[in-house]
Amino acid sequence: MTTARFAPSPTGRLHVGNIRTALHNWMLARQSGGTFVLRIDDTDAERSKEEYVEAIREDLAWLGLAPDREERQSSRLDSYERAFARLRDEGRIYPAYETQQELELKRKIRLGRGLPPIYDRAALEMSDDKRAAKEADGVKPHWRFKLDHEQPIRWDDGIRGAQKFDPAQLSDPVIRRADGSWLYMLPSTVDDIDMGVTQVLRGEDHVSNTAVQLQMFTALSARPPAFAHEALLVGKEGKLSKRLGSLGCDAFRERGIEPEAIIALLARLGTSLPVEPIAERETLLETFDLSTFGRAPAKFDESELERINTAMVHAMSYEAVRERLPKGMDETGWHAVRPNLVRVEDTGEWWRLVTGPIDQPEFAQEDRAYLREAAQALEWGDDPWGDLTGTLKSSTGRKGKALFLPLRQALTGMNHGPDMGELLPLIGEDEARERLHRAGRE
Ligand code: GLU
Repeated sequence: MTTARFAPSPTGRLHVGNIRTALHNWMLARQSGGTFVLRIDDTDAERSKEEYVEAIREDLAWLGLAPDREERQSSRLDSYERAFARLRDEGRIYPAYETQQELELKRKIRLGRGLPPIYDRAALEMSDDKRAAKEADGVKPHWRFKLDHEQPIRWDDGIRGAQKFDPAQLSDPVIRRADGSWLYMLPSTVDDIDMGVTQVLRGEDHVSNTAVQLQMFTALSARPPAFAHEALLVGKEGKLSKRLGSLGCDAFRERGIEPEAIIALLARLGTSLPVEPIAERETLLETFDLSTFGRAPAKFDESELERINTAMVHAMSYEAVRERLPKGMDETGWHAVRPNLVRVEDTGEWWRLVTGPIDQPEFAQEDRAYLREAAQALEWGDDPWGDLTGTLKSSTGRKGKALFLPLRQALTGMNHGPDMGELLPLIGEDEARERLHRAGRE
């Protein structure tokens, strides 16, 4: 059974990239009957906001990705403190005193010499005297995790395959600031251990973090989870896009995008499986497989989302939407209107063709005579539209557009719209006759 986690920082709303990561982790957990943990990464007290924590919960609920368990880093500080003390005692964490400017200068010098800009471990070599002098000056250290350069880093990535890092080519990461606050790296590892996470799936921007964290798992005598890193989501032009960074559930909701359309698209985007308007999560779960994920960035195309959404709306059952329909609209009404919708929210516009009032166009003399004849010919049987057009076809000799369009315009005020065979019975006999009369007035 898989324990997977989604670990957003509550410093903003979820965007489509986060939603995709959340979904894939949810799927990994659901597929195995395991646990989906929402972990709120709120160690950055200044940037983390309670309103974002709530928004994250609401968005996940709206998407149908509610977690089985929620954890918060801000309530787990004791665990980080314990891990810190242990690693420090074992010589795996050391204090460093450089200022930002000093570090930046070192970076530039190394780059200028054609060396990788990694930290030179000067703090490790610092004499006790020098350290004491710094402390006496009131300089508080930040803390780095000491990578074991003798221990090569390897893992079999669920998406990227065999991965290998030389720890000597990585900087010893800063894990704690001088004010005692935590950076992401160690708390995340401690959490993954304590929460029994068995599978970490995240964006490929975390690949080098994984390299470092693998050594942390070992240093803490824990078995690391399986890791997989998915290619990032980019705009349809293939570039990282600012727009995607702000595109979230609010924008989707506003545009009438159904959560299931987002899920269907994001479940398969960037995989070798076809993106289809699949509303059943079971089907998506059955086919979800990390080995189908490609290494190329996944391209998110808003028009593809619209297409999937439309196809899904056209297939939605009355039961699924009844709460959202205009008053008085029943299942027959929904079925009549559904094929014309782009969004469920547009139902009201089409339903007004039934309830009226409608706006009829001005008809030419000849069409007005035709519509008067139609008002006379209208009979109310099982299929009033079929009967009416059948009768008019033989009595007037009209066919095609000339036969149908004036009728549709008179009855609905529109040039196109739902199937008239379904719509006319909903308009009702009296109202239909009245509309035809009105349109045919001399
Ligand atoms: N809070 C981190 C982020 O949003 C979590 C990364 C992870 O999944 O470990 O990038």
